[in-house]
Amino acid sequence: MARYTGPLCRLCRREGMKLFIKGTRCYTEKCAFERRKYAPGQHGQNKGKLSDYGLQLREKQKVKRMYGVMEKQFKNYFEKATRMKGVTGENLLKLLERRLDNVVYRMGFAQNRRQARQLVRHGLFTINGRKVDIPSYIVRPGDVIELNQAGKELELIKESLALAEQRGFPAWVEVNIQEMKGKFVRIPERDEMQLPVQEQLVVEFYSK
Ligand code: SF4
Repeated sequence: MARYTGPLCRLCRREGMKLFIKGTRCYTEKCAFERRKYAPGQHGQNKGKLSDYGLQLREKQKVKRMYGVMEKQFKNYFEKATRMKGVTGENLLKLLERRLDNVVYRMGFAQNRRQARQLVRHGLFTINGRKVDIPSYIVRPGDVIELNQAGKELELIKESLALAEQRGFPAWVEVNIQEMKGKFVRIPERDEMQLPVQEQLVVEFYSK
């Protein structure tokens, strides 16, 4: 599956907000957005007013970039969300939250979604005892995600877990730090996700 390989901090500057793509660096004064709070490129500091279309496009790009999903797959999520019961924008975010790489990140096994995706691809996780190495795998309530033995010995993961414990875990996952495994208890409600996005604009973008 294709993924964006360009400069990451540029994405935050483009969206005008911190997307926390890099992990620990995002919480330090080295964060590029903290130092340059304007869009990248020659005209980055000339802020014109965005049209409705421009606002919808930016919001769509922002959500895509937060979860590290490319356009085609993102559109597939949107189409799936429209077929589900409930509010389409919320359904879209709930699907994205259920991606295995996101759940691994939310459980604190990785410092960002990008790193989580790499760890998943390396085959370090099992779901209910079976190896799953597909980052887009959709996790179900009750699923138990566990590191394999090689993963449990990785310092990188132990450090991530220690940082996550300090920050606190989301209410919809239960993490057993000693055993290095976690349960996806339930699908989060929209207000629990603490995502600074207006998903309705994404819906409007695709509804033209
Ligand atoms: Fe974004 Fe993190 Fe880079 Fe800051 S350090 S600009 S939050 S990716």
